[in-house]
Amino acid sequence: MIDLTIVLFGLVFGSFLNVCIARLPQHQSVVRPRSQCPRCGHPIRWYDNVPLLSYLILRGHCRDCRAPISRVYPLVEALTAVVLVLTFRQYGLGPEFIKYALFGMLLIVLVFTDLLARRLPHVVTGLGIFLGLLLSFIIPVDDRPLVWIARHWDVYLEGAASSVAGAITGALVGGGLFYVVGEAFYRLGGRQKEYLGFGDVMLMLMVGTFLGVPLTLMTILLGSLGGTLIALGANALSSRFRKYAWPYGTFLGVAAIYACLWGSRLLDLYLRWSGIAG
Ligand SMILES: [Zn+2]
Repeated sequence: MIDLTIVLFGLVFGSFLNVCIARLPQHQSVVRPRSQCPRCGHPIRWYDNVPLLSYLILRGHCRDCRAPISRVYPLVEALTAVVLVLTFRQYGLGPEFIKYALFGMLLIVLVFTDLLARRLPHVVTGLGIFLGLLLSFIIPVDDRPLVWIARHWDVYLEGAASSVAGAITGALVGGGLFYVVGEAFYRLGGRQKEYLGFGDVMLMLMVGTFLGVPLTLMTILLGSLGGTLIALGANALSSRFRKYAWPYGTFLGVAAIYACLWGSRLLDLYLRWSGIAG
């Protein structure tokens, strides 16, 4: 029952995320004007604007001019519903759910704006950094590395101060280390393409404020590794991918969603296996 409610909310929010994905890279308002068909300009009727369902009923075509509707719309709606349900399964229904649901939705927007328009709008990442810092006062951010270091100077961090400090260091480490990884990508790519943009740095600042240092590092590792493997695989399959500019932010965004949902488990497993934590 709760699952079903969350799915419905996910579809409705996903529908709004679609508007953000289509308009924010063009610096357009997400409130006005109302949605219209990009080919014939006819405003979308309210009953043709039902998430997922309308796409199926209209069989992916505009009711007026039969122009095909992008498959990205139903995909984003379904994906948002899935991410929200997984977040609920992981964190239950509480403040943590709200925090990580917001994080997941910000990431979905960024994954698709980078994929479709090679943009990571500062409105989205800026809002994310602000929300991440704000929510770190209420929901604890992983601050273990910082607490561990501070203890060696006889400084004992705890409570909200420790959590906020965890968010800030997460952001600094994410943004800082990102330069190193981005530079490596740049060199591997033969210095022909600029893989590093300020948008990517903003994205990692945002991820850092939500996840803290350990999971931010995991995001960079998984995003870079996954991106490299996919790019190498695609290059091996077809030569037309050689000139393709891979959206780094998309890989980082997917990795951050993974880290948010299952990263702690993977991290604990690694810490125990490596003997760092008993
Ligand atoms: Zn049309």
